[in-house]
Amino acid sequence: QEDLFKNVVSHAKEYGFIFPSSEVYDGLSAVYDYAQNGVELKNNIRQYWWKAMVQMHENIVGLDAAILMHPTTWKASGHVDAFNDPLIDNKDSKKRYRADVLIEDYAEKLNQKAEKEIEKARARYGEAFNEQEFVTTNARVMEYKSRNREILERMGRSLGNNDLEDVKALIEELEIADPETGSRNWTDVKQFNLMFGTKLGASADNAMDLYLRPETAQGIFVNFLNVQKSGRMKVPFGIAQTGKAFRNEIVARQFIFRMREFEQMEMQFFVRPGEEMKWYDYWKQTRLNWHLSLGLGVTNYRFHDHEKLAHYANAAADIEFNFPFGFKELEGIHSRTDFDLKAHEQYSGRKLQYFDPELNENYVPYVVETSVGLDRMFLAVFSTSLKEETLEDGSTRTVLALPSVLAPTKAAVLPLIKRDGLPELAQKIVDDLKWDFNMAYDEKDAVGRRYRRQDALGTPFCITVDHQTLEDQTVTIRHRDSMKQDRVAIASLRQIIDSEVNM
Ligand code: ATP
Repeated sequence: QEDLFKNVVSHAKEYGFIFPSSEVYDGLSAVYDYAQNGVELKNNIRQYWWKAMVQMHENIVGLDAAILMHPTTWKASGHVDAFNDPLIDNKDSKKRYRADVLIEDYAEKLNQKAEKEIEKARARYGEAFNEQEFVTTNARVMEYKSRNREILERMGRSLGNNDLEDVKALIEELEIADPETGSRNWTDVKQFNLMFGTKLGASADNAMDLYLRPETAQGIFVNFLNVQKSGRMKVPFGIAQTGKAFRNEIVARQFIFRMREFEQMEMQFFVRPGEEMKWYDYWKQTRLNWHLSLGLGVTNYRFHDHEKLAHYANAAADIEFNFPFGFKELEGIHSRTDFDLKAHEQYSGRKLQYFDPELNENYVPYVVETSVGLDRMFLAVFSTSLKEETLEDGSTRTVLALPSVLAPTKAAVLPLIKRDGLPELAQKIVDDLKWDFNMAYDEKDAVGRRYRRQDALGTPFCITVDHQTLEDQTVTIRHRDSMKQDRVAIASLRQIIDSEVNM
């Protein structure tokens, strides 16, 4: 699994999907740039979401709110006071760890250590059977594991309850060590606000302190009435938005899974008070179905229903995905009650109410939110699609078996050789089809190697132009996944590609 993850990162770089940000300066931690193929894949995922959410729902409309918002927004939303992660400082290494990640790391180390001990005992057992020694070692390791496990579990619970004093005490009891340096000098456990601050205005005296938005949702809430009135929307209705969000994550690792600048695709659905559970269930299922429609495999998804709820929610669930490092949150579905709209009413002094003509009454709608990370979607799709295949003749090939609808390039046109008019004819096919599909032209290297390159880029079709094409206007079309080749008329290409790559 670790190897798979390494392959994902290096494939993404080698084939122009994702580069570390400002790499010439050795990068910026947890910030990434989407390269020539990555931007296409990312755009396609965004469009696939937008189509399903906005275009296919007559009662959902889009929005593109600004990243910078009036600072009171974040007081009302609770982000100024309660958007924290507990962080642990190590005095010696000067490193900071997100408490829950440190616990995870430690549990991992604990397992490794125990396995090693048992392995050692087993080796001895092979050389000269010493039952007593083996049994004692085993018992010692098990006791060590279970004692520390129990402390880790208590620590996890204390973190959940925000009881940082207790976490501190447990760290001492555990004698936890810095996973990288082994040093045990922990200083403090404290809360760390994840919002990035910035300033608006030129003069130091009256500059206004702003935040980069940590979620796109609030741009939707403050525009709720504007959209409802100007669009004559009737409850239930939704507002959808995709856009950048920023969080100063304490531990930034796992590639694009946890970034400091990332993109969200969110939809806030406004419903009658009391009907939120019905809609919560509806959106949980609808969103799962959307994921399943990509064909990455049913067993790669699971729900995680939250027991401990955020201050604004009365029900919440994650759709978790089986990433290369295990099941982790991909999307959140939250029943946010009327918390946000009421808070904005209170802080702004403006009414954010809806007049329901059927009930003949005014109310603040309840909200059900679906929120998925675009970059996490990218990672889910990319890592699941990357395959190393052994072919019948024993050779191997790397194929990025992306869902065709998301593939950056839909078809590559390849002249068999670089003369006899084949390049010109191939280019003409590209020029004709590029109105409808993202196309590529490639004439470098032997055709077999060009096929492999397109496989690694996830291109569903390769179209090869050869001498027969000059005579009868047919080409071979090769399918990425089956590697099957058919001889077809140039005139039929548009329809063949279209039937596979459109939603
Ligand atoms: P986590 O528990 O993993 O930090 P979260 O519960 O804070 O995530 P939400 O606030 O519910 O996440 O955000 C909604 C979605 O935005 C998440 O499901 C995830 O896909 C995405 N997301 C959140 N934080 C990040 C990040 N730092 N990098 C990339 N995507 C993120």
